[in-house]
Amino acid sequence: MKDLVAFSISALALAESVIATTQAGSTVTTPLGSFELTKGAACACSKLSRAYSGIISPKSANYTAQAVNAYWDVRADLSPACIFLPSTADEISKALEIFQSCDAQFAVRGGGHMNYPGSNNIDGGVLMALEKFVKVKVNAESVEVGPGLTWYDVYEALEPYGRAAIGGRLKTIGVPGLSLIGGFHYFNNKYGYAMDNVLSYDVVLGNGTQVMANKTSHPDLFWALKGGANNYGIVTKFTLKTYDIPKVSTTIQVFNESGIPEFLTAVCNIVKLDDEDPIAAGMVATVQYNATTKVASASLLGVQEGISKPPSQFANFSDIPATTRINNVTTMKQWASSLDTPKQMFRVMFSHKTMKPDQDVLISIYKAWKDAVDEIADVEGLYPTFVTNVAPASAARVALTNGVGNVWGLEAEPYILWQFSTGWALAQDDLRIEAWSRQLIERLNAINVEKGLASDFIYMGDAGEWQDPFAGFPGENVARMRKIKSSYDPLGVFSRLNWGGFKLSV
Ligand SMILES: Cc1cc2nc3c(=O)[nH]c(=O)nc-3n(C[C@H](O)[C@H](O)[C@H](O)COP(=O)(O)OP(=O)(O)OC[C@H]3O[C@@H](n4cnc5c(N)ncnc54)[C@H](O)[C@@H]3O)c2cc1C
Repeated sequence: MKDLVAFSISALALAESVIATTQAGSTVTTPLGSFELTKGAACACSKLSRAYSGIISPKSANYTAQAVNAYWDVRADLSPACIFLPSTADEISKALEIFQSCDAQFAVRGGGHMNYPGSNNIDGGVLMALEKFVKVKVNAESVEVGPGLTWYDVYEALEPYGRAAIGGRLKTIGVPGLSLIGGFHYFNNKYGYAMDNVLSYDVVLGNGTQVMANKTSHPDLFWALKGGANNYGIVTKFTLKTYDIPKVSTTIQVFNESGIPEFLTAVCNIVKLDDEDPIAAGMVATVQYNATTKVASASLLGVQEGISKPPSQFANFSDIPATTRINNVTTMKQWASSLDTPKQMFRVMFSHKTMKPDQDVLISIYKAWKDAVDEIADVEGLYPTFVTNVAPASAARVALTNGVGNVWGLEAEPYILWQFSTGWALAQDDLRIEAWSRQLIERLNAINVEKGLASDFIYMGDAGEWQDPFAGFPGENVARMRKIKSSYDPLGVFSRLNWGGFKLSV
């Protein structure tokens, strides 16, 4: 045991000395390639390793686990100059002061799911990963959660109390990224988006100051964080509203190709539901297409609050002949436990647009997508899916009536977010897939523009990195976001030094 401790200490000392002695301008080689160490990164890594133990350098044993394996999309794998795993808000404050004093570029990682390369990792800069922020405190009607948690962790903590939070639909998506961009959950139609359910944010600002943003403290920042992404600061704690939902009713349905037009019609019908007192229910609705076998299928993962077997809100889907149909009554934790999103499976390109529900047009978009997939069938490891997310009028109404609002400013109208999520294997196809996605989505959206069905709304969680979500928010909201940004981040720490992800141009 003594030997083991001595070995760990000397390994740690070696890792630290590697960072401290590597000079700016020298070439650093990592498992993923090489980069030139800048003055800013050399300064920040060296200061961090003098202040804290456990700074991970490219030569550390756990570098690959941190720089590569923690990411969902293979394209997110980059080569940071060093990696810092803070455990407290004070440590984040200190790190931000160091980044500023060294003029060092940095990236922040929560759950690592965003597939915008550079949003959560960085070549040659400092990566700050929040995995040690895993505290959960369950209160009577809220829960306080750290940004190192996944949504499954939150549902697990709430289960003994029979309560649920509005978060991610799948198991390992991170709490911070999803909450900061909006948050599509199954129960949006009744409780609004994840961002509408954040009661308070503990934030470290770019100059290292720690503030709490809620309805009464820094209310302008509170509003801007509701959809404003990583433009304002680093959130070290989210306090989320919870609801009395001890049981959920679930349905898993799979349809073969002949059922897809009815499946897409059912998607259009469910988003149009607008009861005065809605039953919380929502889904993940996906069409898969195998360009080799030329076979398409559709799947529904539906969840409704309370006990209803089969879940009543999915009656439109249940009328379609299915190859699989499994209805169940369970808990949010149990349901989420089986919905893992394995990391590092593919390179993935998202692209999406928003439209008013129109089944004929949605079906024609699906058919055009399938034909277009055939054109790239030779791409190695191709994994194409056509995904729809629903944004019912009742979901938007929550922010319109809660006295706070959010940056989206969506009107109380039903919308469908349609998305191509395309996986592939080789880096050499990156540009080809991006070009294909962009051209196809713009061509099909043009039809919606002409028909008066298109909305400019773009959700950061479904968008390609070449899309601009801010252009789809109301102009007055973007102007207000910019004003708030200039007062909370006057030096532009979250645009100039932390530049990755969907950034508000200033
Ligand atoms: C397989 C899959 C399933 C998905 N399902 C859903 C879904 O059901 N509903 C939905 O709405 N979205 C969904 N998304 C989109 C998802 O919400 C976003 O990718 C989100 O950013 C993931 O959060 P994260 O913490 O895992 O991401 P990360 O990649 O770690 O972070 C995303 C961004 O937020 C920043 N960030 C992270 N933590 C903080 C912090 N504490 N303070 C400030 N900035 C921070 C990062 O720097 C980065 O720019 C899904 C994505 C994938 C890949």
